[in-house]
Amino acid sequence: MATIAFVGVPAHGHINPTLAVVEELLHRGHRVVYYSTKAFEDKITSSGAEFRGYESIVEDIRTSFQFGAREVANVFLLSALVMEGTELLMPRIETDIVDLAPDLIVHDAVSVWGKLIARRQGIPAVASITTFALNMRAIMVSSYSCMQALRFLATSIPSLIRCMCASWRVRRQYGRPLRPLMDIFINEEPVNLVFTSTLFQPAADSFPNSYRFVGPSIRPTPPDPDFPWEALENTPVIYIAMGTIFNEMDAFYRLCFEAFRDWEGRVVMSVGANTDIAGLGPCPENFIVRGHVPQFAVLGRASVFITHGGMNSVSESILQHTPMVVVPQGADQFMVADRVAQLGAGIRLRPSSLDAGRLQASAEQVLAGQSYQERVAAIAQSYHEAGGYRRAVDVILEQLDSV
Ligand code: UDP
Repeated sequence: MATIAFVGVPAHGHINPTLAVVEELLHRGHRVVYYSTKAFEDKITSSGAEFRGYESIVEDIRTSFQFGAREVANVFLLSALVMEGTELLMPRIETDIVDLAPDLIVHDAVSVWGKLIARRQGIPAVASITTFALNMRAIMVSSYSCMQALRFLATSIPSLIRCMCASWRVRRQYGRPLRPLMDIFINEEPVNLVFTSTLFQPAADSFPNSYRFVGPSIRPTPPDPDFPWEALENTPVIYIAMGTIFNEMDAFYRLCFEAFRDWEGRVVMSVGANTDIAGLGPCPENFIVRGHVPQFAVLGRASVFITHGGMNSVSESILQHTPMVVVPQGADQFMVADRVAQLGAGIRLRPSSLDAGRLQASAEQVLAGQSYQERVAAIAQSYHEAGGYRRAVDVILEQLDSV
């Protein structure tokens, strides 16, 4: 039995794909200890992993490690927070991991501290990449995301300086070269698990063999008996959700009411736990609005998904053969939205020029177009062939055997 330490970042989208991997490792007889923030404890322990909270090891991390929409939207601010978090976490987490003495570390690609600890302690490591693998060619495929980064750069000089200062201090303290930005989002290892397929990954052929495209890793979840499934029977369904970070979007939800109140079908809308549903105004009769829905199962009933373009949401939609209308809000979503459009799996809309008519027309176009269905089915096939969480565990165990 090996002990494997997962060193995570506090975001559902980064944790979700690792949970099926954790369950499979436990199933194959290994011990898993998972480092993350307290907010994710229940989710992580439900996989069977032992949980270690960053806050219980490093008290100060409580205030600096909150990644909300404001922080995630701006890549430069996020970089500064990751580097400042690394400074806080490094000394104490390193001691904790040394005591644990894991045989292998699996760290998120954004976990700079995970990579530093693995290198400094000589522990073999695998990186977990829950969005796209990144290099210049992959980034350049998405002109939209390049434009967004440039737009933020103009207003983010103070964040960039904060990030460079923290990177310099970490480098001075821990002796590893750290380039601003590149080494924050691309902490690559000799083996890198990428939870998408070579078809969906932009410029997949530009990555070396150390990048293993294992496809989405989705944990089977039990059916939710509290959801009104009978209301989705014998009627077309539109599903609308903006993920777990960018979901306080009252104006957008009201726009959806306006766009689809007369649509002859059912609309399921997930608005996040912090949205006051009553405050959105009268709910059209054909809408089911909830703070949280069993998304993967609802997607199995939906004909079109209006999404922010989070990588998990898009993977789940494709696996359920549901084409999309993507309205990206920040982070990697511009790149994911571009990829959906480039591969013909849906339509990308610019949030700045959104109105009810455009949203409705885009949903109708996706609903009517057979080609979207075909393209989504082709990508789903590539996901299945990639192997998912079982292949990810094979790769991790190969790495363990090779040391
Ligand atoms: N999700 C869910 N129910 C909801 C809204 C979201 O189960 O009502 C899940 C969704 O299935 C996905 C995750 O939350 O696995 C969102 O991750 P994603 O990468 O799409 O977006 P993020 O939250 O990171 O922006």
